[in-house]
Amino acid sequence: LVDVKHVTKLFADEYAVRDVSLHVDSGEVLCIIGPSGSGKSTLLNCINCLVRPDSGSISVDGELIGIEYRNGTPYEMTERSICFQRRKMGMVFQQFNLFPHMTVMQNLCEGPIRVLHEGRAEAQSRAASLLGQVGLGDKADSYPSELSGGQQQRVAIARALNMQPDLMLFDEPTSALDPELVGEVLYAMKELARTGMTMVVVTHEMGFAREVADNVVFMAEGRVIEEGSPARVLDTPSNPRTKDFLSKVL
Ligand code: ATP
Ligand code: MG
Repeated sequence: LVDVKHVTKLFADEYAVRDVSLHVDSGEVLCIIGPSGSGKSTLLNCINCLVRPDSGSISVDGELIGIEYRNGTPYEMTERSICFQRRKMGMVFQQFNLFPHMTVMQNLCEGPIRVLHEGRAEAQSRAASLLGQVGLGDKADSYPSELSGGQQQRVAIARALNMQPDLMLFDEPTSALDPELVGEVLYAMKELARTGMTMVVVTHEMGFAREVADNVVFMAEGRVIEEGSPARVLDTPSNPRTKDFLSKVL
């Protein structure tokens, strides 16, 4: 479903992402781990078209995203097709970014109605079932300020899902949460993985990676240092840098 080929991104002559290639099949969960500044967010933002790579190509569902170099010549997609591509993806960030002046239900329906031009009844009925799925069936009329961080993040997940994405991208979705609220968000993500959703998850939660990921990628200094099954990468890492990183986080 997702094909990243030789993607490189520089910020002011510094490599943020350096010649990264990876592949995620439909229904798979890929976890990206690595130290701060290793390019994890930049890579995710390239997939989500928030950041444009300097070279390389990314395709989702066989369709090219952003920019590709063909024989050294940049080939660019139009803004319109980039917007269209982005609709295939739901994104969940560290900060929940809910609309504070809207109820939970309104948060979930804003995108489908405004962007997808869907009927209100249809958007609301799917929203209600998604809220149930993340364990918040009784919070439809609450405002974000009335919810805990864990509940807000689950609303953010349900909101992204209500856009009916093919792919969900998570950037450290539990890093801003109090420790006791992490479990409920990870549980919602596990349940989502069980439904067969394709997911790319940047996380420091090694337990989640071990249990849920089909593949784990370890990044350092913008590069993919090691990748493979969770058991391979987390339990029997072959690269000294992976070993060093894991010894600090586990
Ligand atoms: P963290 O775990 O702290 O979130 P990360 O692995 O997500 O780190 P990135 O945020 O992708 O790392 O950053 C990779 C490198 O690119 C860093 O050196 C960072 O300073 C730089 N960088 C990221 N975004 C920008 C930007 N918008 N402008 C300039 N430099 C940036
Ligand atoms: Mg980051």
